[in-house]
Amino acid sequence: PVPVVAVVGRPNVGKSTLVNRILGRRQAVVENQPGVTRDRVAYDATWAGRRFTIVDTGGWAPDAKDRAAAIAAQAEIAVATADLVLYVVEATVGATDVDDAAVPMLRRGGRPVLVVANKADNPALEAEASTLWSLGLGEPYPVSALHGRGTGDMLDALLDAL
Ligand code: GDP
Ligand code: MG
Repeated sequence: PVPVVAVVGRPNVGKSTLVNRILGRRQAVVENQPGVTRDRVAYDATWAGRRFTIVDTGGWAPDAKDRAAAIAAQAEIAVATADLVLYVVEATVGATDVDDAAVPMLRRGGRPVLVVANKADNPALEAEASTLWSLGLGEPYPVSALHGRGTGDMLDALLDAL
């Protein structure tokens, strides 16, 4: 069976941009407005000759209400049914309260979680990513989904962890 990788994180951290970068084409919908992806959307991806399914999700938040709660629930289903989770945060922001709140939810699945520090568009921001060790989820991988920086190393680590 083809392994499943879920891409999860707060709204607007760049999950869909990262999915597009991994796919090498603009297929996942990227928006400046949060909350565009409502469901779980699966795509066929390949890296270094290995196939996997990548699942884009909407923004996760704890104690979300109404529509946001439905979106968060879909993200949680993606975590529960994935073989590996890419938890996306912003290198420009660091770990937020929402990210701390996500950790138990991410651990519940019992699957490997890679912390992806997105928007690390330059070396200074890349260095900032090390603050994300504080999440307790292991080594943070700085990437710029927009420019492609760091994504190859992150994908190598993903395949190692699958
Ligand atoms: P999502 O809500 O997590 O799926 O986030 P999107 O992929 O829709 O991106 C939200 C915004 O962040 C868009 O304006 C993207 O262009 C921007 N963005 C995504 N990745 C990067 C990145 O690596 N660097 C910068 N500077 N902006 C990014
Ligand atoms: Mg999105």
